[in-house]
Amino acid sequence: MSVKEITLCGGGNGIHAFAPIALERGLRVNIWAPYGDEAYLLKKGAEEEGGIRAVFTDRSIIKMPHRISSRAPEVIPGADLIVIITPAFVHRFMLGEIYPLIGEKASIVVIPSRSGLEYEYLSLGFAEEVNLTGFQTLPWACRIEEYGRKVRIFGIKEYQAVASIAEGPVDAFYRELEELIGVKIKKMESFLSLTLGNMGQLIHPGIMYGIINRYGEKEFAGDEIPLFYQGVDDSTARILEGLSSELLLIRDHIASRGEGLHLADVPSLKEWLISSYGDEIEDKGSLRAVFNTNRVYRGLKVPVVEGDGGRYHLDKGTRYVREDLPYGLLVSKGIAVLCGLKTPVMDEVITVLQNWLGKEYTVGGDLRGRDIGESRIPQNYGLESLDDLIGAIL
Ligand code: NAD
Repeated sequence: MSVKEITLCGGGNGIHAFAPIALERGLRVNIWAPYGDEAYLLKKGAEEEGGIRAVFTDRSIIKMPHRISSRAPEVIPGADLIVIITPAFVHRFMLGEIYPLIGEKASIVVIPSRSGLEYEYLSLGFAEEVNLTGFQTLPWACRIEEYGRKVRIFGIKEYQAVASIAEGPVDAFYRELEELIGVKIKKMESFLSLTLGNMGQLIHPGIMYGIINRYGEKEFAGDEIPLFYQGVDDSTARILEGLSSELLLIRDHIASRGEGLHLADVPSLKEWLISSYGDEIEDKGSLRAVFNTNRVYRGLKVPVVEGDGGRYHLDKGTRYVREDLPYGLLVSKGIAVLCGLKTPVMDEVITVLQNWLGKEYTVGGDLRGRDIGESRIPQNYGLESLDDLIGAIL
């Protein structure tokens, strides 16, 4: 392996999982945990436990990271691989801090990338030798059980869709990542495929749109909290189909320009669900049935928080909206604008969700709301035409 030293950035579930896995492969592993007192708590927990313990379904490992710090200058400069695992709203801060410290030949991996990460990275002007690789999802379903001490890994994905912005060939690097993480890597055509193929941008806002319309500010007793995926009804399925169709219009418009981008790896929502979950889905007949009968989704409830008197209401902090709108659906809307395409279903979903959050991303369907600066739409990075966008990523 050419990677010898890796710095993991963040202090959440994914970092707890990745650290012992990378240590088991014999790498030097540091953690940069700048948030609150996470560096202190991680160090304290790991020292008391004798390392971070990752508990899989069939085995467990415990390994001690080499260095844990809240300060980037202590752990970024020597690393040849830097891995960010945080919610998307933290990426901008982390990339900005890493930029002046990173070694000339180091690689950055962001897990998961969500949409529009490439514009953020390109706007910072990293040296050409510094590669960026985005993963579509986190390889592990995992939860911290004791901070700094123990993480439970419930499952490992079979493969990961990834894309890179890199000077030379990336195949050897992908083989190294496969060996390091222990999952197969599926190479996407370009970062645009990763951005458009981020299906969380359709699934989560689409289903939340249906839920908000149906329940709004309603309060639930503990046993009344509705199901999220199994609760998809015909009208929500129509919205999800509409979102997916508009995404495919964007894909086909760009592919038809004949500039070398085929985007054949951006599927419809239904195709993606069937290829991701296969036999876990009992009835593949309609999109609604695919959601309602997917065993992996069984029993998962809508995101709620507990209010007064033990009653629950919809959680306005949910990442299904806070992350999947500004780092997902809005990015696709931004690309649709560059294509000159109309997206009435996206517009409707964005309007309902932003009103519910108290945000303003769009005004009358235009990307000029007061909060649009939070989003990773290409227009926020000076990409004002489709030629700009394609030129930036190719
Ligand atoms: P997490 O929720 O554990 O990450 C939270 C961490 O992000 C915090 O502990 C902190 O280190 C960092 N952070 C949060 N706010 C910050 C701020 N303002 N400044 C600096 N750092 C801050 O995330 P995770 O579970 O490791 O997942 C990472 C991403 O992967 C998320 O987008 C999540 O939705 C997604 N994901 C997670 C899982 C899972 O099983 N854990 C599965 C699929 C996808």
